Amino acid sequence: MKEEKAIRSRFDLRKLVRPCIAQLKPYRSARDEYSTPGGEMIFLDANENPYGDGINRYPDPYQNALKSVLASLKGVRPEQLIIGNGSDEVLDLLFRVFCEPGDANVITLPPTYGMYGVLAGVNNVEVREVPLDDQWQPRTDEILETVDDQTRMIFFCSPNNPTGNLMQSNKVKEILQAFAGIVVIDEAYIDFTSSDSWSSMLDDHPNLVVVQTLSKAYGLAGARVGFAIASEAIISILNKIKPPYNVNALSQEKALETLRDPEDAKRFLATVKEQKFRLIDGFKALDYVEQVFESEANFILFRVDDAQRRYDELLAKGIVVRKRHGLPGCDNTLRVSIGTITENEVLLTVLNQLN
Ligand SMILES: *Cc1c(COP(=O)(O)O)cnc(C)c1O
Repeated sequence: MKEEKAIRSRFDLRKLVRPCIAQLKPYRSARDEYSTPGGEMIFLDANENPYGDGINRYPDPYQNALKSVLASLKGVRPEQLIIGNGSDEVLDLLFRVFCEPGDANVITLPPTYGMYGVLAGVNNVEVREVPLDDQWQPRTDEILETVDDQTRMIFFCSPNNPTGNLMQSNKVKEILQAFAGIVVIDEAYIDFTSSDSWSSMLDDHPNLVVVQTLSKAYGLAGARVGFAIASEAIISILNKIKPPYNVNALSQEKALETLRDPEDAKRFLATVKEQKFRLIDGFKALDYVEQVFESEANFILFRVDDAQRRYDELLAKGIVVRKRHGLPGCDNTLRVSIGTITENEVLLTVLNQLN
């Protein structure tokens, strides 16, 4: 315990932020100064077209209306939120704040979401992979052995894409306490689980960044609205470097509308749960299916005799699934999203016709 405390006290945000970012004077947009055009003021500050229904104006750069709804939904303060053009943008901002190109490294736990590696590559940051164990859980000792002075971030995905399981909280906690860099927990699928978000632990862990999205459970993948929840200190640095108008006005409006009436999302979550069990049972009954993994998300990973063959056969029937063959531990696996009731029916019918 004593040792844990000692390690934890080494977390020093100022030392983690790239010097060029620490020194950066952010761009101040016209809308930074006066963020809500309309009302009584005459807005001649942003070279906009003055005619229109509102879309002629630049959007609120800090998405204040959306943040206040999100904050109360998530039980955090608006100052603990940054919203991005999808959570992929927020992940990219994290790389650009914390990882000096050509110098920093990050740790990922494959099989997992592919964007961590791609964003690392784009930012010229080394990726150190510590594969999950055979229960799809983090190997904490190996992770900590892989950390060195240049390790800036460790990525957990929980529930994990593509395996569908949650990361055990004692293992995540161990890393949060022992690692002095940033621990990112990607919770893109948290709404599908009954487990709590790690965002409730922010006060205990200044190095924690939780990433969520409206793309999956809330049905807004096309609007591109994702967000991170973290300490005010971390959020304010991310805010410094984000593109000023990164979330467009139509998407802000659409997200507000969706969050104001969460009934659709709730209905969808109930359907997913039901349909998931139906699909899992259906998959298990097929003799070319070798393993079906438990899922806390809106997809199922399963192992077949020959993933390429089954993928092609499905494709020939007009059904597109995701091959995960090639990722660590994922030999001959396919990942299937839970579709509509009808789509799932068609999927099961087609799968049953294969031999
Ligand atoms: C889908 C997904 C995302 C991307 O979300 P966007 O907000 O649409 O960019 C992030 N992380 C994981 C694990 C995902 O599966």
